[in-house]
Amino acid sequence: MSTATATATQKRMYIDGKWCEADDGRTLRVINPATEELIAEMAYGNRAMVRRALEAAQKAMPTWMKLTSWDRAKILKKTADLMRERADVIARTMTTEQGKPLAEAKGEVIHSADTFEWFAEEGKRAYGQVIPQREQGKRHVTIKHPVGVVGAISPWNFPILLQARKIAPALAVGCTIVCKPAEQTPLSLVHVFECLVEAGVPAGVANLVLGPAQEVGDEFLENPICRKISFTGSTEVGKHLMRGAADQVKRLSLELGGHAPFIVFPDADPEVGAKIAVMGKFRNNGQVCISPSRFFVHKDVEKKFTEAAVEFTRALKQGNGLDAGTEIGPMIDKRALDKTSGLIDDARKQGASVLTGGKRGERFAKGHFFEPTVLKQVPANAKVLTEEPFAPVMPLLDFSNVDDVIRVANSTRYGLAAYVFTNDLTTAWKMADGLEAGIIAINDPVPATPQCPFGGMKESGMGRECGHEGLEAYLETKFVSMKLRDS
Ligand code: ADP
Repeated sequence: MSTATATATQKRMYIDGKWCEADDGRTLRVINPATEELIAEMAYGNRAMVRRALEAAQKAMPTWMKLTSWDRAKILKKTADLMRERADVIARTMTTEQGKPLAEAKGEVIHSADTFEWFAEEGKRAYGQVIPQREQGKRHVTIKHPVGVVGAISPWNFPILLQARKIAPALAVGCTIVCKPAEQTPLSLVHVFECLVEAGVPAGVANLVLGPAQEVGDEFLENPICRKISFTGSTEVGKHLMRGAADQVKRLSLELGGHAPFIVFPDADPEVGAKIAVMGKFRNNGQVCISPSRFFVHKDVEKKFTEAAVEFTRALKQGNGLDAGTEIGPMIDKRALDKTSGLIDDARKQGASVLTGGKRGERFAKGHFFEPTVLKQVPANAKVLTEEPFAPVMPLLDFSNVDDVIRVANSTRYGLAAYVFTNDLTTAWKMADGLEAGIIAINDPVPATPQCPFGGMKESGMGRECGHEGLEAYLETKFVSMKLRDS
């Protein structure tokens, strides 16, 4: 570890158009979850630096918001182009700090670039309305206004996509932003900022900070310069921010936890269903807020589905995400690994059986590997069914009645995503109507895309990212009423 320290690269924050160290020189060690080696040290600031970043963003906003959306779009599109050009390099950094296989990391870079491009264009459609008057001689219109300086906080599971969903719409409509990535994965976002800077984003418009999460969060909450917080992360921190935001009636977008049902109907081929289920479940080790995590399989196809799901899960190639052919990498850190072991132990104690996996990846001398796991006979009060698992675990449950499965699927405090496997249109619509989730994926294991709204119902969050809704989230509506002269 000491040699690694000596050779580790140093990465910096970006405030007011300058790359900078922490005032006191503090750094944060970023660790590769596949090898447990030090990759780099990242400047680790403090609350005063976050304040400076907010002040820089405030200073930059009047000029930035006066540009036309077409001029802002040029910079955002150039950012997207640079990200695509550098996709291989950015993906390598992401795999090294986050663990996901290189192909998934590259997919995230491209998806993020597409997000910048899509919002660059959508920013040109921040339309107001002309509203018919009820009194002679009046005219009513609405115009859109950028919400102000934004504080953006994201987790480690998608180190750049979740920031792209905030930076792109905010900048497209004329807001300025201060971004805080997760402690585990700050390095990929440094690449994105390099692209923004080279694309010509003016000083202060986009700022990158890192520091103790509570301090950053408190500064965003308490500093009136910050007009909106956009947060992706746990429901607990989301609630904390919501309470804190009340004092200044600060705007909030919250994209929080989930516990998505995956419902398999008997009208379609259960092997195909199992393939889709395994693909959706084990992507990024199940560390995805929309990851399917409760699998309801109709009794008529349960045996076939289970056999196929176990077979596909066993066949997944686990390893270092940088190695060719790896389909599933390590989990993010030891805490995640321990939490997963705890969920399996609890389910086992309560009578669940482990069909495959169920333990740490013992063939790896280092790294936070957990074997992809399929569980059966999981009782309803097992923690894996009641807490957001964020883990490579597929608990199988059965059902025979459609209304019952809708009721049980809806019986959580979450409502982010729901997956349905069926070829029957009537069933598909019944589920789309009945399931309490912001995203309903029918035969689609990977539904997220820049142009469609992403977000949850109930305790899964507030507001939507992506799609036109994701642009509106950074806009205020101003009503302009005019009384004309009598003529
Ligand atoms: P996870 O358990 O997946 O890391 P968190 O909600 O704890 O989820 O973290 C998501 C993001 O929120 C990270 O960037 C983290 O640093 C940040 N965060 C954690 N606690 C706070 C807080 N009190 N205020 C603001 N941000 C926070």
